[in-house]
Amino acid sequence: MSAANIVTETTPRRADSAAGASAAAPEQFQMYIDGAWCDAISGRTFETKNPYTGEVWARLPQADHRDVDRAVRAAHAAFTTGPWAQMTASDRGLLLYRLADVIAANTERLADLEVRDNGKLRVEMLGQMKYLPRWFQYYGGLADKVQGHVTPIDKKGMFHYIIYEPVGVVGAITPWNSPLLLTVWKLAPALAAGNTVVVKPSEFASASMLGLAELFEQAGFPNGVLNVVTGFGHDAGASLVEHPLVARIAFTGGNVGGRKISEAAARNFKRVSLELGGKSPNIVFEDADLDAAVKGAISGVFAASGQTCMAGSRLLAHASIHDELVERLVARVSQARLGDPNAPDTEVGPVATEPQLARVLEYIEVAKNEGARCVLGGKRPDRAECGSGWFVEPTIFTSVNNDMRIAREEVFGPVLSVIKFETDDEAVAIANDTEFGLAAGIWTQSLERAISLPRRLQAGTVWVNAYRVVSYLAPFGGMKESGIGRENGAEAIYEYLEAKSVFINPKPAIANPFTLQ
Ligand code: NAD
Repeated sequence: MSAANIVTETTPRRADSAAGASAAAPEQFQMYIDGAWCDAISGRTFETKNPYTGEVWARLPQADHRDVDRAVRAAHAAFTTGPWAQMTASDRGLLLYRLADVIAANTERLADLEVRDNGKLRVEMLGQMKYLPRWFQYYGGLADKVQGHVTPIDKKGMFHYIIYEPVGVVGAITPWNSPLLLTVWKLAPALAAGNTVVVKPSEFASASMLGLAELFEQAGFPNGVLNVVTGFGHDAGASLVEHPLVARIAFTGGNVGGRKISEAAARNFKRVSLELGGKSPNIVFEDADLDAAVKGAISGVFAASGQTCMAGSRLLAHASIHDELVERLVARVSQARLGDPNAPDTEVGPVATEPQLARVLEYIEVAKNEGARCVLGGKRPDRAECGSGWFVEPTIFTSVNNDMRIAREEVFGPVLSVIKFETDDEAVAIANDTEFGLAAGIWTQSLERAISLPRRLQAGTVWVNAYRVVSYLAPFGGMKESGIGRENGAEAIYEYLEAKSVFINPKPAIANPFTLQ
């Protein structure tokens, strides 16, 4: 029960110690089930490494189906019989507000945990942590504004109304790249709607979710409303998806896992939302402000070392500005400061996992073999400030055509493919010629393009003269293989509610019981 069971203070930062310095003993974490901190029933643990040092920094319980079963049963009991089940929507909202305040007071600590787990820049993770309270405030405010309604039903003398009810136990399965932000996109609407939740965070970045669970405890959430099981996707994750008491799965991750989850959910008729990957086009027209477009291209694919689902990994450049755009991009990106993600002036950190490092390097070789021209990067950096961290130099390929694997498959690393186009129609055709449909960027000063092109692009989010902007107010999600469902915005709460139709007949008489009334 004690918060002392998990990390209670931050591990000293390693800003001044080069990678490879002697490792501190790993932090020991426990899971959070039914308001108590616990080990896995099997007693097994797994370790997680710091991408900047390559050292093991944490050890976590390795949940299997028995732990998942405990967590789901706790969530189900909290949903059906506990104080949460009795709470009014207004009181639930107030509890979410309180949680927002507790998070706001602990952002530094949560950011520390995320940086150690996924190696992303502290400045970015701290920004994300400071933004989290908004989700709980927004959906906390929405909790008591979900209204059913009376319909003008077409049955004489009958009274009919619709009410919205929570679905029950929600299983949230999340990735490593923005662990808490993407989990909160699920937690805030799910809880505001009155559900209970079991979270299975990524095996590569679970610590911050346990840090957040501690804050739920501090805010006073009843036992079982939030449960966190740590472990692997094929084991703990799959058990959560299969569990008969889980009514809905909210998943963010890759397409391989997403497909398996979708199939498993279909077998059990579970509701599911899938936020998957992308190969998003970032289109620069000849009338664009090129300075702004260069920054947009950088934020599209080199921010977060390219490890964002919405990465603008295909830069579509109009033929007339292609060379100048590439020249300016190379000039700026070649000066990017790589190094310790905790240092405030670092611009590019390591990639988050060892398998991810191998995958990015492999894609670079594939691109070279396919005939793309590497004009920047293309290898691991040889810089003292990168130590033995899992870095890849920001890499730019030109002479890419849209059939190459580097233009079709999600790399999830700091690798940009530049593709030339001549006309607006060609740009739209190339942009849409992908299995994915998560996001797109447009750089233009033409009002006509700014208004007409978003409609023609097959993407859940389109930015004009901007890139990588998200908000709790703006629905986010994908078309095609980028997923099913939307997160954020007022409608997202309905993803966690069921509509119930109630007919009341004040005169209990049925004209003909053998026909539809
Ligand atoms: P991943 O699919 O490997 O893992 C995501 C989560 O799913 C992890 O918790 C993992 O343990 C679990 N999992 C994997 N297989 C499972 C299975 N069969 N059953 C149940 N759970 C399973 O993804 P990742 O490598 O952690 O994250 C990177 C991917 O996530 C990229 O493809 C990226 O585009 C995508 N992503 C999408 C969004 C979005 O909002 N659309 C946001 C961030 C990341």
